[in-house]
Amino acid sequence: MKLDLNTTPLKDWFPNYTKPGLIVGPCSAESEEQMLETAISIAALYPNAIFRAGIWKPRTRPNTFEGIGDIGLEWLKLVKKQTGLLIATEVATADHVEKCLKAGVDILWIGARTTVNPFSVQEIADALRGVDVAVFVKNPIYPDLQLWAGALERVNNAGVKKIAAIHRGFHSYDNGPFRNSPKWELAIELKAACPELPIFCDPSHIGGVPELIPYIAQKAMDMDMDGLMIETHRNPLVALSDAKQQVTPSALKEIIDNLQIRSASVENLELQSKLEELRFIIQKLDTDLLELLAKRMAISTQIGEYKRDNNVIILQVAHWKKLIEASLANAESMGLPKEFIKGLYQLIHDESIRRQTDVMNKVIKK
Ligand code: PEP
Ligand code: MN
Repeated sequence: MKLDLNTTPLKDWFPNYTKPGLIVGPCSAESEEQMLETAISIAALYPNAIFRAGIWKPRTRPNTFEGIGDIGLEWLKLVKKQTGLLIATEVATADHVEKCLKAGVDILWIGARTTVNPFSVQEIADALRGVDVAVFVKNPIYPDLQLWAGALERVNNAGVKKIAAIHRGFHSYDNGPFRNSPKWELAIELKAACPELPIFCDPSHIGGVPELIPYIAQKAMDMDMDGLMIETHRNPLVALSDAKQQVTPSALKEIIDNLQIRSASVENLELQSKLEELRFIIQKLDTDLLELLAKRMAISTQIGEYKRDNNVIILQVAHWKKLIEASLANAESMGLPKEFIKGLYQLIHDESIRRQTDVMNKVIKK
């Protein structure tokens, strides 16, 4: 994928940027006291953090807490005045953008439910034309990289250069232990498409519970992400939204203290040469794997031809089941995780069926 963005480096707009940049604060603004108390604790620990709080909350069902509304902007302004922290909130409409700009909100973010809708994103982008504000774009709820890239492009095309992405995980019917499946490969692909685009990780919305945050945050650092958005509340137990995943400022400190920030560049020469050697072996093995796959697929095509000539259907479920069971047992004895091999075989099998379908259809066309 290609993604050309005109970005301003994080160090030029994030306060005294060091990795990880922190965007922390409650899921939602609830009261002046809740905002100030939380912000004062955060500022004492991290004076360079950006303070976040949602004011207009996109909820799946009505009659849950849909945000405190415009009054929250007054509380954000107070936070900025009393703590010196830069302030951030979520925008979903041009009206939100205008109100935030008037209130002096420093950073806006587009939420996962808004990134999915190009009309909404364009409306926000149009409201941002000619304005010097920073914008974070969360990934869309669905694992669609084009949609994420498209939202970043729309905002950037409106002239916003202080731009960054937030990886907050994806809705999936198989989330494993996570509230939202991380699908790290999508964030990696975005980074590969546009290396100068800063990417933050939101372990709160990926994990859904505090216990998973340290693991996800560490992984984000090891994926060379630039910062973290972590929902932080003075008393998560009574939070009006996302109570299950918020952490106290002191729990936040423990998470950040325990993070290991490893080097992104390989300066040690001995390590460099060892890595090169191992990467060379991997490259060779990858070629072998591809050659084997090509051979395997050629045989699938041949089987397709036999099936076609003898008028036999493509999918023989009993045979496929036997094959996958044998391969899974084999994989297990080699120390390969079952789920990984199952997924891999699913892909290989899908491609085999696609080829055999092609072979069959050629005959129909004759
Ligand atoms: C949030 O940050 O509180 C939020 C609503 O996030 P998301 O858009 O990632 O669901
Ligand atoms: Mn939230």
